[in-house]
Amino acid sequence: MSVDPRTPSQLQEAHRQLEEAARYAEVHDEVIEKLHHPKESKIVSIPVRMDDGSLRIFRGYRVRYNDALGPTKGGVRYDRDVNADEVSTLAFWMTIKCSAVHLPFGGAKGGIAVDPKRLSRTELERLSRSYVAAMGSFIGPDRDIPAPDLYTNATVMGWMADEYQKIRGENTPAVVTGKPVAAGGSLGRDDATARGGYYILKELEKIRGCDPAETKVAVQGFGNAGYHIARLLHDDGYQIVAVSDSQGGIHRASGLDPTSIHRVKEETRELRAVYCEGSVCRAQDHDDLTNEELLELDVDVLIPAARENQITESNASRIRASTIVELANGPTTRAADAILNDRGTLIIPDVLANAGGVTVSYFEWTQNRSGYYWTLDEVHERLRARLTTHFHEVRNRAERHDISLRQSAYAHAIRRIGEAIESRGTREYFASGLE
Ligand code: NAD
Repeated sequence: MSVDPRTPSQLQEAHRQLEEAARYAEVHDEVIEKLHHPKESKIVSIPVRMDDGSLRIFRGYRVRYNDALGPTKGGVRYDRDVNADEVSTLAFWMTIKCSAVHLPFGGAKGGIAVDPKRLSRTELERLSRSYVAAMGSFIGPDRDIPAPDLYTNATVMGWMADEYQKIRGENTPAVVTGKPVAAGGSLGRDDATARGGYYILKELEKIRGCDPAETKVAVQGFGNAGYHIARLLHDDGYQIVAVSDSQGGIHRASGLDPTSIHRVKEETRELRAVYCEGSVCRAQDHDDLTNEELLELDVDVLIPAARENQITESNASRIRASTIVELANGPTTRAADAILNDRGTLIIPDVLANAGGVTVSYFEWTQNRSGYYWTLDEVHERLRARLTTHFHEVRNRAERHDISLRQSAYAHAIRRIGEAIESRGTREYFASGLE
């Protein structure tokens, strides 16, 4: 595939976001320079023996973007299109996200270029274990800590943690988060990404005085992030009028029931690996619609919860929702962001809206290291407190400078990374010598 050299890479686009926000962060220019460069990357070839006896080699990636605040943290995705640019961009966003909600982590990301729906359960297990073996000492509980992302789940994290512990010959559950609870996972990690976004929406509800029963919501993506946000909002009285997955979407003006849709999806995939192949399209009395149509529905809240670059320059002007909650990473391109901001659409940016996942991953890491496990209520309350505190700080900064929540969240995050980098000395410190 040839790429137009004039088209900016995803990472270059993300760096523009960094530069736009930098002026509101008041940090040394060396901080911004540092944040333009990933710290280290590893690309590995992963040989896997398939069930029919043949050998296939998959390409695996891991990027540790910046560790000024602590060990690096970020998910691993299994997707056909995974590539070095995408993983570096996601690792950069993780750096911003961890700082935005004041976690003691830097940012990382990983992935394997594979279509997981075409692998059997045993092939997926061998692939996941081999990824960890190939990454060797690149990961570790004090170095770099993987977690679930697109098309990876608690089972996959359990395999990865188990493989690492086998290699090290010691119990080290804090090396991976998002594990099954029985394998050292935290209560509340399963719906944490969605729940974080939900808590922020509840704050917005208070500020704007809106009524859930009058609020129509469309959710793109019906996996971990998308299903749980649809469920939480539906249970709270919001009207979920449309949901979708990779095969298409369903719409019902009088509202859908996410739990029963999820049940049908679960039932139809039986015996088919760990991935859902049943489509939401067979679940309820509804109209079918495409993913493109879902984005343009006349709703109050739009929740992209699938993948990057869904709201672009070509459809942004047709988006009718007044609020967008970005549960997916990078669902809105920079050009679309500018169009929507000009039109007054409120966007809760990914680095805040989906930070609940990494926040409860931090709780899991903490519990693994202390050996003391929390109740579900404790997890929920600490998650709610952290996300609402940082949402309001970001909102106040946005109002002070008359900037978007995205620019403000970046500035909020860069400020904290900046303090950590500046504390190790900048040009002025070294130029003036020690007194
Ligand atoms: P998942 O694998 O559980 O679910 C992904 C869902 O998206 C599936 O329903 C799939 O069918 C659907 N999908 C894929 N391509 C689509 C398309 N083109 N149009 C519509 N739907 C499509 O993944 P997830 O963990 O829910 O991740 C979704 C997004 O949330 C990703 O951007 C991920 O980076 C982000 N995220 C996830 C977490 C987490 O903890 N899982 C945390 C932060 C951010």
